[in-house]
Amino acid sequence: MNPGVLGAGFERERERMVDEQIARRGITDARVLQAMRRVPRHRFVEEPLRDRAYGDHPLPIGEQQTISQPYIVALMTSLLALHGTEKVLEVGTGSGYQTAVLAELARRVCSIERLAPLAARARALIEGLGYTNVWIRVGNGALGWSDEAPFDRILVAAGGPGVPPPLFEQLAEGGRMVLPLGDAEGQILTLVERVGGEMRTRAFGDCMFVPLVGKYAWES
Ligand code: SAH
Repeated sequence: MNPGVLGAGFERERERMVDEQIARRGITDARVLQAMRRVPRHRFVEEPLRDRAYGDHPLPIGEQQTISQPYIVALMTSLLALHGTEKVLEVGTGSGYQTAVLAELARRVCSIERLAPLAARARALIEGLGYTNVWIRVGNGALGWSDEAPFDRILVAAGGPGVPPPLFEQLAEGGRMVLPLGDAEGQILTLVERVGGEMRTRAFGDCMFVPLVGKYAWES
């Protein structure tokens, strides 16, 4: 957690976003709501889009990728049930917004992005905001980050056909992973738990993510 990080600007927009799009839709985890009140989402989009940063939708971030809709970020984060002690793996850093929300709520965040320009931009932003518990790497996140494994929590921000086996292998016993599973037409937000070495899954509604690319993706 980073008590020193300040989300200067757009405070009222952020407050409204949390009240109207997140709390009102049933997300009750007070720590998640507080983290989303703090992280300056407008900093994670290009200057011309800043006025729309707190709207109820995803936005383009270049490289044909998107920053996820605020509600989806809140839902995925709350499904992870973070208490502050966890080591988290994120696949698909993108803008780094979800990464910052995770950094507010976990002990350490390791995030992997396949596109180097996005990873570089996210790293600079995260460092500039003062987070010291985030590591961002370029690579295929579906292979995990074996040097840092096991992870208490894993969040995948790109859609794929199934749970990539390396990610389940790198999930700690009792750990939780959240990811969108389906096809290019749409996915189901899925919670995976590792209980006694076995995989348990639960579905949490429809969603639409950009595709996971590379091994364990739809096309490969
Ligand atoms: N939570 C991010 C979402 C970014 S979109 C945000 O709110 O900004 C998903 C990201 O996953 C994209 O940046 C895409 O490049 C990345 N991605 C897709 N497949 C990947 C893979 N196999 N490994 C790592 N990153 C991947």
